[in-house]
Amino acid sequence: MEAENLPRTRLFIDQKLASGGTAALDGDRAHYLRAVLRQGPGDRVLAFNGMDGEYLASIETLSKSSGVLRLERRTRAPVKDAPPAPWLVFAPLKGGRTEYVVEKAVELGAGRLVPVFTRRGDVGRVNLDRLRANALEAAEQCERLDAPEIAEGIELHKLLAGWDPARTLFVAAESGAALPLVTAVTAAAGKPVAFLVGPEGGFDQQELDALRRLPFVVSVGLGPRVLRADTAAFSALAVWQAAAGDWRSGDGDARPPNRD
Ligand code: SAH
Repeated sequence: MEAENLPRTRLFIDQKLASGGTAALDGDRAHYLRAVLRQGPGDRVLAFNGMDGEYLASIETLSKSSGVLRLERRTRAPVKDAPPAPWLVFAPLKGGRTEYVVEKAVELGAGRLVPVFTRRGDVGRVNLDRLRANALEAAEQCERLDAPEIAEGIELHKLLAGWDPARTLFVAAESGAALPLVTAVTAAAGKPVAFLVGPEGGFDQQELDALRRLPFVVSVGLGPRVLRADTAAFSALAVWQAAAGDWRSGDGDARPPNRD
């Protein structure tokens, strides 16, 4: 790997990116670069859009509410044939912990996050704009090339009614019959999966019974201790990445393998 000092600032830019081209900065990003990072024309950033890889860009113009990036060259190619990223279906939590779940799940490689409303859930709505901003910020920071999706919040029964049976739904269940998590996920390597984690009060018995009747559901256990919902979500994603996901690849180089 060549020693190269790439800029630390990474921006998700929702536009087509190509070497030699330009990209417009929206008001939020222009403000962030100018007022928060104190950057100006000539300074460099990395830009990605979830499709075209990552580009080294220099700031061509920057005002309070707009700006233009000049894309110099591609620094990373898009990942081809990436294994399907796991989804996280989670009951939103109180007091800022939903944002925390989003940030950590994005770092752990979740491809889609679905807030789900359950009977014992204690949060009945989510601020989608805020969660989407949290997700993009986490993707920028952790050097992901894709943009994780945040779905609209949905009632559990509606989610299950529309579920694609090709995607295994691992339900984190702290009681009743359940496969050890690592056994269950190893068997599903390479397949599309989602993890469902309940609210702090857990699923109620009827929900668990309904879940267990579904052919695409596999109940998984995360050990003898009852975990907080956020701990359960992060543990499930981490075990997936280690046993079946992208923590298995790499040649010891800590940087992403597709850096140009
Ligand atoms: N039933 C408890 C706690 C729920 S913990 C109560 O009544 O208060 C919140 C969520 O974390 C659960 O719904 C479950 O999805 C997950 N979870 C916690 N500990 C777990 C474990 N040991 N195994 C599997 N899932 C667990």
